[in-house]
Amino acid sequence: MDKSKRRTVIAGNWKMNKTPSEARTLACEIAKALEGLDTCDCVDVVVCVPFVDICTVAEALKGTRIKIGAQNVHFKKSGAYTGEISAPMLAECGVTHVVVGHSERRQYFGETDEVVNLRAKAALEEGITPIICVGELLAERDAGITEEVVSRQTKLALAGFSADEVKRTIIAYEPVWAIGTGRNATAEQAEEVCALIRNIIAGLHGKEIAEAVTIQYGGSMKAGNAAELLAQPDVDGGLIGGASLSAEEFVEIVKAAL
Ligand code: PEP
Repeated sequence: MDKSKRRTVIAGNWKMNKTPSEARTLACEIAKALEGLDTCDCVDVVVCVPFVDICTVAEALKGTRIKIGAQNVHFKKSGAYTGEISAPMLAECGVTHVVVGHSERRQYFGETDEVVNLRAKAALEEGITPIICVGELLAERDAGITEEVVSRQTKLALAGFSADEVKRTIIAYEPVWAIGTGRNATAEQAEEVCALIRNIIAGLHGKEIAEAVTIQYGGSMKAGNAAELLAQPDVDGGLIGGASLSAEEFVEIVKAAL
């Protein structure tokens, strides 16, 4: 497996944490801790922050290589959708990545695979990289249907995408039972499902496209387990929740990816 064909992406998902002033502090701490580390050639570092923190964090990170991500995007460009944020709005604020279909959004906000697909499409139209989250519940793993669940989510999320759009998309395999629980998937479990996702993409668009797609693992990744997870041939980075709220932990994960 040749990882040089795709980017490794370490993305922090701050979830609903940090006011703008707190976000500035954390962003500056991360930037300072990354100073002098040569991450540019092989690793992209992204912080996916709450909407209201985007401008503040973009300002704080000006001149660094750290990219700004959002945590959701509406699928229409504008209109009567009170409370929503569109892809053109995000793009103008300097957002380069957006998390789509996180399990918390599927669970608490009723997000379906069809909506995930629309959101990802809308992001791509503005040149924003969607980070599409897929992953099984614990009951689904226990029932032996992980492959079926992840295959369905991946295929529906990518429905109607051109090969070029798939290439510009990141898939994050996030077993729901590992998110925020402190119980990460083993390196073998993460590799097994990330490889499955790559096979699905190969089936849809061919091996060359599949090898160019970044597939992350997410779920209780931290400094202590990152190296082993990231060493897997099909794991091309991490989507990190809790540990991304500590500059020290987050930067240790970035170092594990270098
Ligand atoms: C996440 O929110 O995507 C996540 C993986 O969270 P945590 O790292 O806290 O499990």
